[in-house]
Amino acid sequence: MIGSQDLVVGLVIVLVLFGAKRLPELAASLGKSMKEFKKGVSEVGAEEPARPPGPSPIAATAPRNCPGCMTPLDPAWSHCPRCGAAAPGEAPKDQESR
Ligand SMILES: [Zn+2]
Repeated sequence: MIGSQDLVVGLVIVLVLFGAKRLPELAASLGKSMKEFKKGVSEVGAEEPARPPGPSPIAATAPRNCPGCMTPLDPAWSHCPRCGAAAPGEAPKDQESR
């Protein structure tokens, strides 16, 4: 039968084990350790620097659009396959016309 009597017995056992005088100390040390734990956690969080927004890899391969028909051009293409217009930006020189 679990009743209030068992609770009292358990409490008495705890008091006997730790001592009535040490109980507040136990609670105090527990609270102190918890406080220090939280402090350490916050310090760790503060030490960790926020990730700087580095250069996005997408910028390196920025999609180009054909100035004529706005067709998305592949970086390797020098001319638009649809209308034949020269691709904007750094287009490789066409040496076939030589
Ligand atoms: Zn085009």
